[in-house]
Amino acid sequence: MHDARKVLMIEDEQDIARIVRDYLNKNRYETAIAGTAEEGLQMMELLQPDYIILDIMLPDRDGIEVCREIRRRNNIPILMLSARGSDTDKVLCLGFGADDYMTKPFSLSELLARINAHFRRYDRLIAERAEGHVLRFGDLTIDKKAYRVTRNGLEIPLSAKEFEVLHVLASHKNQVFSKAQILDAVWGYASYGDENTVTVYIRRLREKIETDPSHPQLLKTVWGVGYKFNVD
Ligand code: CA
Repeated sequence: MHDARKVLMIEDEQDIARIVRDYLNKNRYETAIAGTAEEGLQMMELLQPDYIILDIMLPDRDGIEVCREIRRRNNIPILMLSARGSDTDKVLCLGFGADDYMTKPFSLSELLARINAHFRRYDRLIAERAEGHVLRFGDLTIDKKAYRVTRNGLEIPLSAKEFEVLHVLASHKNQVFSKAQILDAVWGYASYGDENTVTVYIRRLREKIETDPSHPQLLKTVWGVGYKFNVD
């Protein structure tokens, strides 16, 4: 996993700041406190936090101004706190680049839930980006980059063309392809290719990837039309 996520809280009310810091630190965050806007901006450069909690009422500057200033520098997520609880504040904060907004008094567990949810979304996004070339169907994975198919982590050896036939179908799940379309996509010569080639490849693929090749669940025949990769 990753190191503890760093949270910077910019808040002049020390009692609140300390309670939040202690609570977040107990929940696997590493929290620092800045008591003024200036200190907050300095600490931001120094600590490179992953998340900022920013109070709207600070002694030296307006929190919304600070939010704009942070936004000019980078995309770090900002949750703003306000004691006023007005819709205007909320609209202003979100309009000036804050990602989230809470009204004081707030519950610590809700604050934590929102921060956790942010990082869950973020982690999922990163994972999806990294795995954009991998298709998953239950315990079966098809990795386009590596030309690799695995079931429960065990590689199923496929020839390059077997892989391509499977990939064409699996990357368009539940879409029916005629034999001619498969020939065209994989071999590029639908017009004079032998459609029996496709039949042979489908049979071989079923023997390799289906649990019961005589009753295929993934590579289904659509009678009179062709084949599809079946996903419920
Ligand atoms: Ca304040």
